[in-house]
Amino acid sequence: MKLEGIHHVTAITADAQDNVDFYAGVLGLRLVKKTVNQDDPSVYHTFFSDEEGNAGSDITFFEFPGAPLGRAGDGMVHTVAWRVASAAALDFWAGRIAANGIEAERDGDVLRFADPEGLAHELRVSDVADPPLSARHPEIPAEHALQGFDAVRAYAAAPEHSEGLLAELGFEGSGGSWESRGAIRGGWIHYDEPPPAPGLQGAGTVHHVAWASTPEEHEQWRAKVAAGGARPTPVIDRFYFRSIYFREPSGVLFEIATLGPGFDVDEPAEHLGEKLSLPPAYEHLRPQVEANLKPITSPRQRAAG
Ligand code: ZN
Repeated sequence: MKLEGIHHVTAITADAQDNVDFYAGVLGLRLVKKTVNQDDPSVYHTFFSDEEGNAGSDITFFEFPGAPLGRAGDGMVHTVAWRVASAAALDFWAGRIAANGIEAERDGDVLRFADPEGLAHELRVSDVADPPLSARHPEIPAEHALQGFDAVRAYAAAPEHSEGLLAELGFEGSGGSWESRGAIRGGWIHYDEPPPAPGLQGAGTVHHVAWASTPEEHEQWRAKVAAGGARPTPVIDRFYFRSIYFREPSGVLFEIATLGPGFDVDEPAEHLGEKLSLPPAYEHLRPQVEANLKPITSPRQRAAG
């Protein structure tokens, strides 16, 4: 039994529209779902991914309007690493990021930059054989598009404390770098020395990282998490997938989420993310929920008129 790499990464934004403009507009991901936080339907939860809404490429955001900027510290993911195909893709992205007024730093086969709220990203030239997960964007040549997650980087003062649980969960690695690799995909977590200042959850910080499980094995992972010494939540139905959550020993909030049913359970694949989707339990409240939310549109919708 193996986890299939990173399922999604969830972070916090203070402004859903600015966030859409960066992730869909600049990075060229597809906004595949616009819904509300299941625990607080007065705020957005947005999902960006490849063209089909695949796990492995899905970065999601809780919007807390006006939230102050946070900062990553011990026990938090601080950087999201994406795969690209070539050094030429890094050249393309260095130009595109700079053209959008954001500083980018090239370091060999890696390009580093941060989103407008300070969430750090790395693009890395990848030679893994995993199927690339890319979205289409009129300004981004297909061969340069982001190809899904490679890794998350987290801060941990004593990453060795995480080794036992990671091994129980089938990760392979040593020291500060561990890979979860299943039949189709793999993804890494790298631990780095934390800065002296404690972390502060807020806009521009990662809330949790989710690892992918087949639907059939999901219950068994819960038992493995417990056997590894962590305390998993019960299985929670997130509608587009099912989830368990637990904190790993270095403090990073982990989730294990199922591959499917997917984002096309409540709207057609060709119109993902265009309308506000509500969990069934909130559907009868749609007028109130919609009245509370500032409308957001994706660049793709605006281009379509
Ligand atoms: Zn999640």
